[in-house]
Amino acid sequence: MPASADPRADRCAEAARFREFVDRVVTPRAAGIDQDGAVPSEVVRSLAAEGYLGAGVAVEHGGGGFDAVRLGILYEEVGRGCSSVRTLLTVHGMVASAVERWGTGVQRADLLPRLARGEVIGVFALSEEAAGSDPTTVRTTAEPVPDGYVLTGTKRWISMALIADVLLVFARTPGGITAFLVPRDTPGLRVAPIDGVLGTRGGLMGEVQLEGCRVPAGAVLGPVDRGFMTVAAVALELGRYSVACGCVGIAQACLDASMNHTAHRWQGGAFIKDHQLIRRLLTDMATEVAAARLLCRQAGALRAGNDLAAPMATWMAKYFAAAAANRAARETVQIHGAAGCFDGHPAARYLRDAKVMEIIEGSTQIQQVVIADLVRQERHRLPDLAEALMSVGR
Ligand SMILES: Cc1cc2nc3c(=O)[nH]c(=O)nc-3n(C[C@H](O)[C@H](O)[C@H](O)COP(=O)(O)OP(=O)(O)OC[C@H]3O[C@@H](n4cnc5c(N)ncnc54)[C@H](O)[C@@H]3O)c2cc1C
Repeated sequence: MPASADPRADRCAEAARFREFVDRVVTPRAAGIDQDGAVPSEVVRSLAAEGYLGAGVAVEHGGGGFDAVRLGILYEEVGRGCSSVRTLLTVHGMVASAVERWGTGVQRADLLPRLARGEVIGVFALSEEAAGSDPTTVRTTAEPVPDGYVLTGTKRWISMALIADVLLVFARTPGGITAFLVPRDTPGLRVAPIDGVLGTRGGLMGEVQLEGCRVPAGAVLGPVDRGFMTVAAVALELGRYSVACGCVGIAQACLDASMNHTAHRWQGGAFIKDHQLIRRLLTDMATEVAAARLLCRQAGALRAGNDLAAPMATWMAKYFAAAAANRAARETVQIHGAAGCFDGHPAARYLRDAKVMEIIEGSTQIQQVVIADLVRQERHRLPDLAEALMSVGR
């Protein structure tokens, strides 16, 4: 889109474009995605055609060159329509951002444009049965051999594993943890579906088994033995930001559904929107949506400016937005009464999806621990919120 003299107007126009796409392509399919447990290939193709799978990748590498604020607005809008589709943007974007930041010249030239165009789907494979909130305890090993490594282990809960073309796998090397880019068709790599997840049911989740999986030395991404604090850190911070913005989308969807239902449901001699207790629920929901959105915009503005406080702002945004989405989803089920208690109802989906957001990308408890630590460190002091937001329109 050509830039005009008014960047705020540009952002509004772009948000409207995202919204139109989500209302046309994503939201109408959300119930089916939830029911079928899969994001359909036509949605993946539409995301790719719009450039959304490579939105955060620099233009010179074939991406959209979105700054963090624009990217956040996209995540929010897609999250409003369907958390499973937003999950695809998240994990794929995490891999692309890791390659962009830590890739060799060859990896960037070969893989990044294909990730950006959505010709290759990337997924993030860190978690294991015994390594969840503390992923530094991963047990998957990468044994050095002449010209490469042999990977052995099992990764669990890997979103979009069933449609992955390349997996960003973290494994233990002799001196620490190293990141590897492993093509899906590497001999010894097997993906088994994981069914029955509570929320983001279209996440095409899988268990990734690596049995003597041989990769060349060129599969290493970032520094050997230091892949956690480098490659994983970059990817996880983007993932956290993306989930935070997606949570604002869930909360907004809850507010929209609640406003609509309360305006039409007649009980006790009035539309239920006119009962004071319901008005209080709507007021709290609307206020929390606005507050969560502001925290996400702040995190986006700080990320765009490479500010040292960006990680803390991102943790705070994710912490608050996930909790706000859960409160909004709970009250949305309440407002819909019995109708909202059934699997096929959007309110029930919002509630299930919101719960997952308090577990992934740093659980609520981990955030409570980390934010307190960061607050103690002067270099993570947040600039004045208004200051950070002033830069959003620039
Ligand atoms: C839908 C979904 C999609 C996922 N997608 C991916 C993916 O694409 N890639 C990937 O690598 N992983 C993925 N995961 C895994 C996810 O990252 C982990 O579930 C998450 O890190 C939590 O780990 P855990 O489930 O083992 O819980 P645990 O770490 O066992 O935590 C259990 C409970 O203990 C609490 N807890 C843990 N440590 C502490 C502590 N130090 N202090 C206080 N409380 C603590 C937690 O908050 C939680 O309430 C996904 C999970 C889900 C549910």
